[in-house]
Amino acid sequence: MPSILSHNSDKRSCLLLRLQQTAIRFSMEMSFKSESGLEILSFPVGRLQCNCSLIWNPKSQEAILVDPGDQAALIKEKIQQRGLKLNAIVHTHAHFDHIGASEELHEFSGANLYLHEGDRTLWDNLEMQGQLFGMQLNPMKSGFLPLENEQEFLLGSNKMVSLFTPGHTPGSCCFEIGEFLFSGDTLFKGSIGRTDLWGGDFGQISKSIKSQLYSLDPDTTVIPGHGPVTQIGIERRQNPFVKI
Ligand SMILES: [Zn+2]
Ligand SMILES: [Zn+2]
Repeated sequence: MPSILSHNSDKRSCLLLRLQQTAIRFSMEMSFKSESGLEILSFPVGRLQCNCSLIWNPKSQEAILVDPGDQAALIKEKIQQRGLKLNAIVHTHAHFDHIGASEELHEFSGANLYLHEGDRTLWDNLEMQGQLFGMQLNPMKSGFLPLENEQEFLLGSNKMVSLFTPGHTPGSCCFEIGEFLFSGDTLFKGSIGRTDLWGGDFGQISKSIKSQLYSLDPDTTVIPGHGPVTQIGIERRQNPFVKI
């Protein structure tokens, strides 16, 4: 969902267009290698250019998929090209642009889907989410396993930990692994997620960012749900929406 912070829902289509223009300008495939040797590939998918990410251990080829928002065929191709085996499919939240290909990837890989219980209403009402944005989306048939704060996912000896960060949606989470953070639509480069839709709450997102994210190592690389990467230290110093 758009990275523009706004409380004026009448301008929604305008904001959506602005987001798309911004996102197209910045969206590109990004690859990283962690200090412990994990590989990370992030690439934009769908109309809103959600950053979908694959994290894998090149020794075991085990992988975790974050936010398969759309373009299931493209995501499958990237998994197959590298010969990866998915251990889990995790979601930062259940806006349609982050879960649009989840069902297909679950069927393709057999990996479990994880989402915080706070976003169940969004998951169960995908059709309604689409209607609001003039898109026809089919209801979800698959269920998900509940994601808790500080839940751990293993990739060999590497641990990915979930951080419960409500505010953009009631069940928003981020994922920390090594020196990387997948921040979903909670924290962006120079912005934060909008809080004017479906249970968003500015007080909550602000508290989540200060307590759960700004407390991380300042050198942590932040891979947001849309747009370019940033660092915790940079946002802590410069983010105009949430200041310490
Ligand atoms: Zn989004
Ligand atoms: Zn969103």
